[in-house]
Amino acid sequence: MRYISTRGQTPVLSFSDAVATGLAPDGGLFLPETLPAFDAVQLARFDALKNDYAALCHEFLRHFATDIPDDTLRALIAKSYSTFSVPEIAPLRQLSPDLYVLELFHGPTLAFKDFALQVLGNLYEYQCRVRGETINVLGATSGDTGSAAIHGLLGKPGTAIFILYPDGRTSPLQERQMACTGAKNVFALAIDGTFDDAQAALKDVFGDQEFRTRHHLSAVNSINLARVLAQCVYYLSAWLRLPANVRATADFVVPTGNFGNVLAGWMLQKMGVPMRGFRVATNQNDILYRLFTTGEYSVSGVRPSLAPSMDIQVSSNFERFLYYSLGRDGAKVREVMGAFKATGRCVFENFDRDTFSASRCDDAEIPAIIKRVYQDFNYIIDPHTACGFKELASDRPSVVLATASPAKFPDTIREATGIEPLDPTLEILKSRPLVKHKIKAAPAEIKAFIEANCQS
Ligand SMILES: *Cc1c(COP(=O)(O)O)cnc(C)c1O
Repeated sequence: MRYISTRGQTPVLSFSDAVATGLAPDGGLFLPETLPAFDAVQLARFDALKNDYAALCHEFLRHFATDIPDDTLRALIAKSYSTFSVPEIAPLRQLSPDLYVLELFHGPTLAFKDFALQVLGNLYEYQCRVRGETINVLGATSGDTGSAAIHGLLGKPGTAIFILYPDGRTSPLQERQMACTGAKNVFALAIDGTFDDAQAALKDVFGDQEFRTRHHLSAVNSINLARVLAQCVYYLSAWLRLPANVRATADFVVPTGNFGNVLAGWMLQKMGVPMRGFRVATNQNDILYRLFTTGEYSVSGVRPSLAPSMDIQVSSNFERFLYYSLGRDGAKVREVMGAFKATGRCVFENFDRDTFSASRCDDAEIPAIIKRVYQDFNYIIDPHTACGFKELASDRPSVVLATASPAKFPDTIREATGIEPLDPTLEILKSRPLVKHKIKAAPAEIKAFIEANCQS
């Protein structure tokens, strides 16, 4: 399988090269040159593996990671999911006859990003080994992505990871997930400033081509091809475990901001897995809700919310959806993205309205939804998952993706239910020493820190 850019001006690459490159040089995002078409025989092969998540993931990813020896790929995936705390990896809970929850928070950082970043970390390690090169990963975070990336690379030979975050402005638990790992190749850099200051400094560091090349710098971000592909697997796994009559009629309800989560499900459907449809569930940062209800995709300011990992202004994975929706025409994607960049809006109406629906949940509604779900089902959901429970369909079953553990958001949960959600992983963190490096949000200081601590 080879990989192309959504903007059509990057030579085709292998899986490993597309993963290592991240963002395509023409500014586009990587996608498979053609999507596999899974037939009944392949679906039966998947079905036989539905109770072994890592084996199912291997059976899926081997269609894509065709330049990695099969046994290596199998071992890499097994290792990626060995860090999860439950044998099902992604348990499917039934709350009522027509309502299921897919729990995606049993990985090391208790949020769904672990599904992709555990695999990505092992892919990086594999690449270091076969190429005899080091890799230094650099990112800025306001929360979940940074800690999931750190736990993907924890202690991996040949790699180091540097995560910038605004000192005092992430949640104490999130800071502990980044700064209490004890790993020698992990550097939690607490900058004096805001998340935007951290991002601006980071952009500057990446802008220095010579520095970037010399230290084999790679970016943490939400657009890596491997992330989307790894995320397809939990949809497949859930769909296979549903009763036959529910498989055909259920909507997957997906809390999303960058469109990464829902894109993965939709791509799986395009590959021939007959899922009925998707509900795009946003918080008050509702660019995707507005898109799927009005056909207009337009920027507005970010409003910090109780579901902070969905606080986005534009959805970075939207371009992949656009590519397919514009008939896989890179020139058209360039035109639309160019116009969008210039004006902050575009009109987009040719998507499948039967496949997508959308809901929007503002901050005032989140605690009430958490409380109602607790009262109705004796089940506690986190604020992101709560957005998915906003307007459940009454005429068909729903599978709501639970993207984070409630234990990560104790204040909101306590306020809504009176209960203190606990998770042993987080309790252990509270007793570990916190090692953070305070640093100015200045490119020169950041570079000096990397220079002194990177893998070379
Ligand atoms: C990142 C994140 C999301 C949103 O994921 P997208 O890739 O933007 O679709 C939802 N919930 C949680 C807990 C997250 O960490």
